[in-house]
Amino acid sequence: MPNILLSVKNAKKTYKGDVTALAGVNLEIHNNEIIAILGSSGAGKSTLIKSILGLVKLDTGKIFFKNNALLGKNFSRLRSSISTIYQNFNLVSRSSVLSNILHGKVSKVSSWRILFNIWPKADQYKAVSLLEEVGLKGMNYNKRVENLSGGQQQRIGIARALIVSPEIILADEPVSSLDPETAKEILKLLKDTAKKNKISILCSLHQVEFAKLFADRVVGMSNGKIIFDKSSKKLFKSDLNKIYK
Ligand code: ADP
Repeated sequence: MPNILLSVKNAKKTYKGDVTALAGVNLEIHNNEIIAILGSSGAGKSTLIKSILGLVKLDTGKIFFKNNALLGKNFSRLRSSISTIYQNFNLVSRSSVLSNILHGKVSKVSSWRILFNIWPKADQYKAVSLLEEVGLKGMNYNKRVENLSGGQQQRIGIARALIVSPEIILADEPVSSLDPETAKEILKLLKDTAKKNKISILCSLHQVEFAKLFADRVVGMSNGKIIFDKSSKKLFKSDLNKIYK
């Protein structure tokens, strides 16, 4: 069994208004593993992902990254190995393809470089080479991203996530703004890139068929709890009936 990269232990979160989003979640993500989270709207998928990213503070429970608590003075050091891609791509629409990819490194370079848009040469070369990695070889990298299709924009979003050489990528519904064909292409790209670069992925998805194609493991959530956690090859209708009522 590969090593545990990230673990969530007894995570609980109740929002103001007494809405329980996480009711004691335990999850282990191994190296080089792709996990899809399924569940109806309101099941707690986003809250789980946001809590790992440090965007939601848990009431109780802890998150460990490579056996270190993802907390306090360790947080930014460990967080820098965790990348994310977004449902709505989160690109700066009036900026160029290259700038958007380089922005993945914002927390790792001095602020004057960002202000004047002057990036280290090595990062610029890497950003250009990532264009090829995400299937956009030959694209004019000075082009504004607002002129690209949704699929192309999410490819840039993936390149931006890859520029920090992450060990894990988290994604909350990364293909829900795309048409089904493009969504499938993007998930295939994400899977192939993750396997090639030995990156783990935790990703919430709407479509069960995509989860089966994309993930090694599928986690089903309902009412803030994990209802099943199993190989995507062994996912049956009876499992899905427990989370989609
Ligand atoms: P999912 O991603 O599975 O749709 P969420 O994690 O977004 O689920 O939401 C879980 C529950 O927490 C839902 O009942 C939702 O309404 C509630 N919730 C999520 N975010 C907030 C918030 N910022 N404030 C209050 N309630 C929230």
